[in-house]
Amino acid sequence: MAALRGRALLARLGARLRAGPRAPLRSAASAPPLYDVVVSGGGMVGSAMAAVLGHDIHFHDKKIALLEAGPRKDYNHMPDSYSNRVSSISPGSATLLSSCGAWDHVCSLRLKPFRRMQVWDACSEAMIVFEKDDLDDMGYIVENDVIMSALTKQLDAVADRVEVFYRSKAVGYTWPLPSHNCDTSPWVQVELADGRRLQTKLLIGADGHNSVVRKEAEIQNIEHQYDQSAVVATLHLSEATDNNVAWQRFLPTGPIALLPLSDTASSLVWSTSHDHALELLAMDEESFVDSINSAFPSGTAVRQLPPSVAKVDPESRAMFPLGMGHATEYVQHRVALIGDAAHRVHPLAGQGVNLGFGDIACLAHHLSAAAFNGSDLGSLKHLLKFETERQRHNVSLIAATDVLKRLYSTTLAPLVLLRTWGLQATNALPPLKEQIMALASK
Ligand SMILES: Cc1cc2nc3c(=O)[nH]c(=O)nc-3n(C[C@H](O)[C@H](O)[C@H](O)COP(=O)(O)OP(=O)(O)OC[C@H]3O[C@@H](n4cnc5c(N)ncnc54)[C@H](O)[C@@H]3O)c2cc1C
Repeated sequence: MAALRGRALLARLGARLRAGPRAPLRSAASAPPLYDVVVSGGGMVGSAMAAVLGHDIHFHDKKIALLEAGPRKDYNHMPDSYSNRVSSISPGSATLLSSCGAWDHVCSLRLKPFRRMQVWDACSEAMIVFEKDDLDDMGYIVENDVIMSALTKQLDAVADRVEVFYRSKAVGYTWPLPSHNCDTSPWVQVELADGRRLQTKLLIGADGHNSVVRKEAEIQNIEHQYDQSAVVATLHLSEATDNNVAWQRFLPTGPIALLPLSDTASSLVWSTSHDHALELLAMDEESFVDSINSAFPSGTAVRQLPPSVAKVDPESRAMFPLGMGHATEYVQHRVALIGDAAHRVHPLAGQGVNLGFGDIACLAHHLSAAAFNGSDLGSLKHLLKFETERQRHNVSLIAATDVLKRLYSTTLAPLVLLRTWGLQATNALPPLKEQIMALASK
């Protein structure tokens, strides 16, 4: 069995190598600085990737560069008001952030643990409740800026190993030939918008869903724009409560979620038609608050009611078009894709950045072993192991999220019946619920 798997891996390796370079290599006039790893894109996923490698004992003698198109943000003075961009972070992601020391900073800044998740269908009021029997947290609602602040601190702590280049947009990549020819460079060449160049043994594309790395490597992306945008806002509750439940209700136009931020504040993620999203953005505050409160009605079928909203933070309303995407390959010779560069999901399952952090845990594990063994970091041998493991995990979650999005975007009676039955059956089957929770907590 192991031999079969080994042979399958070798066959894929051969196919990938034969696929070969996508662009001819230009010979550099003067050799640009060489890095063991270049991470392109310093969002939450790219920054975490660089921080995790920077704190890895087996990378103590390695040189890492992180390229970020945007400026360095000042995270020294976190505003008192909550940011409108938040993520539901799984316990698995918290463990990943702990591995580079960032989670302690997150905890000392601010986060809100939640212990329950209540999801229900507006058409039938069928409901599913996820909760932990013990006192463990199901997850944490954390502002993206808090995660970035924590990661920036941890990147500063390893500045001798990880160089972060802000305002440095990568505009072109030149791929090496898989079999090293003495006339050409064996490394990936990276060109920045300002003309600077650098080269690397391994390029990690963490440059978001419009990834330049993915496009330049000619990796196919299966993508689809949803007919929905997400409206986000920071909300103030009518009265203080424990507020440790994440609420989501599937309306025919899309899911609306209230995520706890504190005893008196919650974050809104309302996925709805583009036109309705524009209306929600243009409404006066009172109508906006009324729309949210009436989207979460009272009802006897609902065991516990979500808190009622009194106010919305001025300037916190914003909208984001939604889409799904999946790269058919996560790796090529000396290239790996992680985070939204590799996969993009609807926010209804709150899994986007968690999938990205899962990619990091897996890739860092294989790269650390390669560094320990003195192997070539950019070799397809271990990059393919990363791809196989992650695609196995990500594909099912991405597909399930897409099916849920479609199943809940209809008022067709047979489909409403099917999902009502599905929700009730899942709710009544603790082992199935536990499996779903285990998958989402990774
Ligand atoms: C409304 C909404 C709610 C969400 N809620 C959740 C949630 O609750 N839980 C969850 O897990 N996920 C959630 N997500 C998904 C999550 O936000 C994304 O999955 C995550 O932000 C992706 O991070 P990333 O670092 O891969 O990509 P990005 O955040 O897109 O970062 C990419 C970075 O690369 C930089 N970059 C791009 N091109 C270049 C280049 N050529 N050179 C240099 N730098 C470059 C960009 O400036 C950017 O900083 C949500 C998404 C939305 C829209």
